Amino acid sequence: EDLYQLAHSRLEESPLIGDLAILSEKDIAERFPDLQLKGDVLYASGAARLDGAGLTKTLLKAANCAVISKKVRLDPQASGYRIDGAFYDRVILATGAWLGDILRPLGYQVDVRPQKGQLLDYYFDDLKTDDLPVFMPEGEIDLIPFDQGKVSIGASHENDKGFDLTVDQSVLERLEEEARVFFPKLSEAWRKSDRLGIRAYTSDFSPFYGEVPGLPGLYAASGLGSSGLTTGPLIARELVAMVTDQRFWLNASDYDINRYLTVEDDNSQ
Ligand SMILES: Cc1cc2nc3c(=O)[nH]c(=O)nc-3n(C[C@H](O)[C@H](O)[C@H](O)COP(=O)(O)OP(=O)(O)OC[C@H]3O[C@@H](n4cnc5c(N)ncnc54)[C@H](O)[C@@H]3O)c2cc1C
Repeated sequence: EDLYQLAHSRLEESPLIGDLAILSEKDIAERFPDLQLKGDVLYASGAARLDGAGLTKTLLKAANCAVISKKVRLDPQASGYRIDGAFYDRVILATGAWLGDILRPLGYQVDVRPQKGQLLDYYFDDLKTDDLPVFMPEGEIDLIPFDQGKVSIGASHENDKGFDLTVDQSVLERLEEEARVFFPKLSEAWRKSDRLGIRAYTSDFSPFYGEVPGLPGLYAASGLGSSGLTTGPLIARELVAMVTDQRFWLNASDYDINRYLTVEDDNSQ
């Protein structure tokens, strides 16, 4: 009921939330027959799921730009930046948890930390997943049905693993155990696989973006945390508006980069 009221109060600003309803166990049994629940759930028709890799591929295709996949450094010049032998007058750094790696050599302290995330994908022969809703119980896990019998469970939030990209079976087992309480059918999957990645988070868990203080023409965004697939396109849109002098949709001072980047040995302070 509390969540319903909260979501309702945000509808005016965020109509994409869609229709809201509190569903009973009986309603849920109709929409997601294999889910085992005690009690009601809040339903929002505007919720969506997407495949991050697919989204990135589509955006790059739509941008119709040259893509060079390479780890690079940034060399500030008098009127721009040299990157991998080429000169640019304006640059956007969207380097996630690695923003510190690129800015620290230039004398910045960056309030961005890595958070390891692991998830599991399950594949079913006999489950029609295409139209099932995304299910987000309280706690760490979400249950995300994709097309053609695929259901993803995740993801972990590990703040103390740095940039470690090794699979930790004990974490995956814990995720599976938690999910099986709601979705016992997990044990019938014919195949399962895991994925992992590194999120960027700040000390107040807020994302930020803007022009890097002291380096005109250099812009950055980071700290997108667990919501970057959702907020990333909007933040990207705002950054492009900043670079090309267009109108903003958001109040940029709510996500002010100056709160997260400090110049080391800054004598002005
Ligand atoms: C397991 C997991 C589950 C998630 N689930 C969700 C979810 O359900 N919903 C949601 O909204 N978000 C989710 N996220 C978060 C989302 O993926 C991130 O917030 C988002 O990807 C951040 O985008 P980004 O472009 O800022 O950074 P990234 O996606 O991290 O991209 C940064 C890129 O910069 C590159 N790079 C860094 N340094 C350099 C360099 N020196 N030279 C060249 N390239 C460089 C990196 O290789 C990387 O490709 C999840 C993340 C994980 C790990």
